Amino acid sequence: MNIILCKREGFLVNPHPMYLTNLKIWIAENQERYGTRICPCFEATGDAKTDRKLICPCSFAKDDIARTGTCHCKLFARGDFTDDDFVKAEKELMREYRNTLNLKGNILDTRAVPKSDN
Ligand code: SF4
Repeated sequence: MNIILCKREGFLVNPHPMYLTNLKIWIAENQERYGTRICPCFEATGDAKTDRKLICPCSFAKDDIARTGTCHCKLFARGDFTDDDFVKAEKELMREYRNTLNLKGNILDTRAVPKSDN
């Protein structure tokens, strides 16, 4: 599915500037790193056939939108999504990725936070 198909399907693009800007930056970083516009929410596998499915808009977006109202990253949504719906969807995604802050006085202890390989 490409961006033209997204429009043809009547999907909306997330209208929130910060959200949109972050996703564009992350997708551009992946373009530089992996040579393709792999979704920032998925990890490239190194297998070209599999990784092709992860290029934004990914091959899961259409089914996810039908099932939940948005694609996994909340970039694309069903045509009837309101601003409040986007806000709720973004909060859901943030909950999924948020680590519990381990504050010890004025120090943020990050030793137990999982590390990225990148
Ligand atoms: S989940 Fe959304 S933002 Fe991520 S690749 Fe799929 S369509 Fe793009």
